[in-house]
Amino acid sequence: MPATSAATVTRFAPSPTGRLHLGHAYSAWFAWAQAARDGGRFLLRIEDIDRSRCRPEFEAGIFEDLAWLGLVWETPVRRQSDHMDDYARALDDLKAQSLIYPCFCTRKDIQREIAAAGHAPHDIPRGPDGPTYPGICRNLDPADAEVRMAGGEAFALRLKTDPAAARAGPLTWRDLERGEQTARPEMFGDVVLARKDAPTSYHLSVTLDDHVQGVTCVTRGEDLFAATHVHRLLQALLGLATPVYRHHGLLTGPDGKRFAKRDKAETIESLRASGRTPGEVWTMAGVPAEARP
Ligand code: GLU
Repeated sequence: MPATSAATVTRFAPSPTGRLHLGHAYSAWFAWAQAARDGGRFLLRIEDIDRSRCRPEFEAGIFEDLAWLGLVWETPVRRQSDHMDDYARALDDLKAQSLIYPCFCTRKDIQREIAAAGHAPHDIPRGPDGPTYPGICRNLDPADAEVRMAGGEAFALRLKTDPAAARAGPLTWRDLERGEQTARPEMFGDVVLARKDAPTSYHLSVTLDDHVQGVTCVTRGEDLFAATHVHRLLQALLGLATPVYRHHGLLTGPDGKRFAKRDKAETIESLRASGRTPGEVWTMAGVPAEARP
C-alpha cells in the first residue's frame, strides 16, 4: 500500500441502512490497513442523514460486525445526525457568498424540462451522477423564492457550480493510486447541497466531516472517485483542509455483480450465524492473512 505519513488519519463511513456485507468489510479493512501501515489512526463515522432509511439497530449492527471482525476504531464515533448545525453553518457561509440557491423542482419537473430541451438521448447533458440539473430555479427572482420558502414549499439547495468553480480557480488533489488530479466539478452541474428531505447532502456532510474529524487520507470505493471533484471545490469554498485520496476496487459476488444492500447481499451477520469465523470472512473478502487486524 502506498504510504501517506505517520500522522495518517483514515475513516470508514457506512450508512446504517442495512447490515454490512463483504464489500463493507473490505472497505473498512482498507481504511484500517492504510492507517495501520502508517502507524496512524482509524476513525468511524455513521452517515445517517437519510432519516427515513437509517435505523438504530443497523448502527448497532455496524459496531457489532466490525468488532467481531477484529477492527478497532477510535472513539468518539461521529454520527452525522448529531451535527446538523455544522452543515447549516456551512450552508449559511455559501449563502453569504451567493453560491447556493433554493430549488423547488420535483423529479418530474426536471425530467419534463430535459425532455422539452429536445436532446437526442445520447446528447442529454450528463454528469457522474446522471443528467445534470437543467437550471430551472437558478435564476428565480430571490424575492419570489423567499415567498415560496416562507409558504412552506419544499426546496433543496443547489450549488451554483460554474460561478463557484470560477471563483475558486484551478484546483487539484492527490490520489495515491492515480497521482495528481485536476478538479472538474463543472461536470456535475448544480449539485444538491441540502436535500428536500434532509438539511444537508452526501457531498456537503462528507466533505465537512472529513475536515472536522481531521481525516488526512480518505479511502473509499472507486464508485465515489468522481465525487471528489465536488468535494475539492467545497473544500476551497469553505476553507477546509484537502486530504489525500485512495480508492479501492469494488468486491463482486459470485454473480459478478458488486455487493449492494438492496440485493440482500450476504451479510457479515448471516455469515457469522452460519458458523463462519472472522478469518474465513476475511478470506472471502480477499484480505490476505498477514494483513488482517
Ligand atoms: N457513506 C458512504 C457509503 O456508505 C461512504 C462515504 C464516503 O466514504 O465518502 O457509501
